[in-house]
Amino acid sequence: MNNTLALIKPDAMQKGFKDEIREDIMNNGFIIAEEKTLHLSVVQAKGFYSIHKDKPFFEELVEFMTSSETHIMKLEKANAVSEWRNLMGATNPAEAEAGTIRAKYGTDISMNATHGSDSNENAEIEINFFF
Ligand code: GDP
Repeated sequence: MNNTLALIKPDAMQKGFKDEIREDIMNNGFIIAEEKTLHLSVVQAKGFYSIHKDKPFFEELVEFMTSSETHIMKLEKANAVSEWRNLMGATNPAEAEAGTIRAKYGTDISMNATHGSDSNENAEIEINFFF
């Protein structure tokens, strides 16, 4: 078993997709080992996305991530990092494969419904950030 960090971002929470996304996660063989809902502070959002601090979209991303509540989950499955990224689909919902979570529930490249760690190393860092 491996772990990854999954977020249901404020756009999907606001649109009421939390339960559908949790169902998709469990129907795809993940165990939700830990979970909680938080309204991220600016400090938390900037800290979590610090790798993107020099990107042109950083301020927009922090504003979005602090706009309302985020649901935070530690997921367990074999190859959890790649399995969750495959289930989420591409960063831009317009390019995400049909049936993926971002294709179904995402709004645009910024408000794309979910987050997933991109490596086992970052999964550990991100899980420790929230749990
Ligand atoms: P991810 O690993 O698929 O989430 O993608 P990245 O690590 O590249 O980007 C992190 C997050 O920043 C994405 O999930 C989006 O919410 C946001 N983001 C990425 N690219 C852009 C962009 O070009 N414009 C805006 N506004 N937001 C972006």
